[in-house]
Amino acid sequence: MRISVIASLIGARQAGEADININWLLTDSRSLCFPESTLFFAIRTPRGDGHIYIQDLYSRGVRAFVVEEIPEIAASSGDCVFLQVENSLTALQRLAERKREEYNIPIIGITGSNGKTTVKEWLYQMLSPDMTVTRSPRSYNSQIGVPLSVWGLWEKSQIGIFEAAISQPGEMEALERIIQPTIGVFTGLGSAHQENFQSMEQKREEKMKLFAHCKTVFMPKPGLSALEADRDLCRQVCRHLGMPDDVIEQRLAQLEPIAMRLEVKQGRHGCMIINDSYNSDLNSLGIAMDFMNRRPDRANRQRVLILSDILQSGVPPMMFYEHVAQLVQMRGVESFIGIGPQISAHAACFDQLQAQCQFYPSTEGYLQSQAFAMLRDSVVLIKGARRFHFEKITQALEQKVHETILEVNLRAVVDNLNYYRSFLNSNTRIICMVKADAYGAGAVEVSKTLQSQTQVGYLAVAVADEGALLRSNGITKPIMIMNPEMTSFDTLFEYNLEPEVYSFRILDALIRAAERAGITGMPIHIKLDTGMHRLGFDPETEMPRLIEKLQHQTALVPRSIFSHFVGSDSDSFDQFSAEQYRRYLVGADALQAAFPHHILRHMDNSAGIEHFPERQMDMVRLGLGLYGINPRDNSTINNVSTLKTTILQIHDVKASETVGYSRRGQLTRDSRIAAIPIGYADGWDRLFGNGNAYALVNGQKAPYVGNICMDVCMIDVTDIPCQEGDHVVLFGAELSPSLLAEKVNTIPYEILTSVSHRVKRVYYHE
Ligand SMILES: *Cc1c(COP(=O)(O)O)cnc(C)c1O
Repeated sequence: MRISVIASLIGARQAGEADININWLLTDSRSLCFPESTLFFAIRTPRGDGHIYIQDLYSRGVRAFVVEEIPEIAASSGDCVFLQVENSLTALQRLAERKREEYNIPIIGITGSNGKTTVKEWLYQMLSPDMTVTRSPRSYNSQIGVPLSVWGLWEKSQIGIFEAAISQPGEMEALERIIQPTIGVFTGLGSAHQENFQSMEQKREEKMKLFAHCKTVFMPKPGLSALEADRDLCRQVCRHLGMPDDVIEQRLAQLEPIAMRLEVKQGRHGCMIINDSYNSDLNSLGIAMDFMNRRPDRANRQRVLILSDILQSGVPPMMFYEHVAQLVQMRGVESFIGIGPQISAHAACFDQLQAQCQFYPSTEGYLQSQAFAMLRDSVVLIKGARRFHFEKITQALEQKVHETILEVNLRAVVDNLNYYRSFLNSNTRIICMVKADAYGAGAVEVSKTLQSQTQVGYLAVAVADEGALLRSNGITKPIMIMNPEMTSFDTLFEYNLEPEVYSFRILDALIRAAERAGITGMPIHIKLDTGMHRLGFDPETEMPRLIEKLQHQTALVPRSIFSHFVGSDSDSFDQFSAEQYRRYLVGADALQAAFPHHILRHMDNSAGIEHFPERQMDMVRLGLGLYGINPRDNSTINNVSTLKTTILQIHDVKASETVGYSRRGQLTRDSRIAAIPIGYADGWDRLFGNGNAYALVNGQKAPYVGNICMDVCMIDVTDIPCQEGDHVVLFGAELSPSLLAEKVNTIPYEILTSVSHRVKRVYYHE
């Protein structure tokens, strides 16, 4: 757009005659990319004043400014144009409105409390195979973000998708005028009302103003989980746009979770890793590069961009990669790595750059390259399409902070699952217990592995936050929360988590909270106390009252009823187990008789599955066995976790000396003593010290000498050929947690779950 046209569109007083063609609008000076065709809006906010950046932008080549006050430099800068307006933000919005009016295409406006960006991105994923979609970059949904988004409409745009968010009354009218949606999508209202709104009603009314001129507005069907509601909205919109049902379902099935964050991680060799897993497009690439440039720790490090092939609908690859090259140049990237056949084929687009550019056909190729091995002292921005598996680059770059690691064999987890599956009927569902961070192995990775296994019906964790973490990491299986806290109900609702209910107190509170949140039909799991005397309803006395309460509400639905054996691991409790089972059936039968739908039954834990397969009923709860330890005899099924470290230092110590605190490490001979970096702060039991247990060095037993310290302990390697840097196994296939547990009079569960979080988990598939 010519600057003179813009001046008249926004009713500005123009100072300066230069005839400039404007392609880019800028409100944040740090994001400057194409100075000669950029129009900078000097906006005043409570936090800052854009006018102070004009001089700097001028020196960087910007020649067009929208200002509220003509700055001093105007006099001496004859090649500039200043458009003076009363309010720069309003002018920006006005300009976007005029731009919008040029397009007679469907425009989808999205608002609501949660899920806006997810719905926007999913609609993009579903529609972009057939049409050129223009959408808000990331969550550009504010008074400034919306006009910048709408400015992105261009001649090829066939549909626009824009999200709008407000923080106080009066803002939505402005956004409505800019977006002018023809189709509205309302993702729902969060349970809290923000400080600037008097009530939920007011907030709803304000948000609804976005749809003032929409012919059609979609809302999710009531009662759906957040995730299902987002999918339902996409389904409805695509159907409205004429997409055939089979195509819709096919594309819904392929939707990828939306990661909204740029992750920053410390890497090795002085590298800082910025991981951008957000959908790849030019806008978000620019934003990520701005983010890189703004990192305070960037000084003295070179900027590296690693980018994969990007498929962008409606733009020819040549043009696209030329744009990328321009961005690379403008953002001062010093080293550019392109990965993928397409970007490699367009290497010529990058010929003119000052940056050093290299291209690799595959991620593996790059990982094996000299360039990767030599990467030092850099800020590395990593941005790749999912199928290029750039997480491998991140993993390889990550710093090993603590030399002690817990190696987790995910293949063995599946093998153990199959071991227990062999005791079960094919239609018995398995609830995999991933509480306590999957018994120390890491709940997220273990759950990702289990998620794709048939017969796994549920994942179970102890508290709501553990469930939320799984959901945020793309786990979609039903999740049971064994010990929901009273303060966590909103988390349950938001993340579609299914709580265990064990008392009237929690039942009443949950019903009240769910009713307040307008929830109906939320699945819950009723726990009976049949002999553990920990948590649960008494099946012999409390069923009538429980049934009565459940029947007089619609917020919750009993999905399952269960109890827990106290001694399925030992034959000596068989008689008591039978009594527990009898009591359980009394309660389960009573509840079932009161409801028309089938209520799932489960009681067996790992030991129970093997010992009482006849009591498997509808589901079983598999815990310890999944992690490779058979609770029946403490044998190893398939070893999952190996706790490993390396020798820090070796001392030759005279027999007359002692080792460690309080001189507890008495020696009987001249010895070689190795120090290893694990201590009680890593969860390593102090009782292992003073020869009670041993580690393995090159396969041989090295007893602990003296007291275990906080971060370090000592082992006797007198008879073991070894040197500093050698590996030490603390537990694993050759030295089982069961054996260590015996030495200090505890159970393997405690050994596994004690390994502290500062010990890095490393995963592999054998
Ligand atoms: C932890 C737990 C299990 C799993 O027990 P394992 O002995 O590890 O198989 C089963 N049910 C409940 C209620 C639990 O809390």
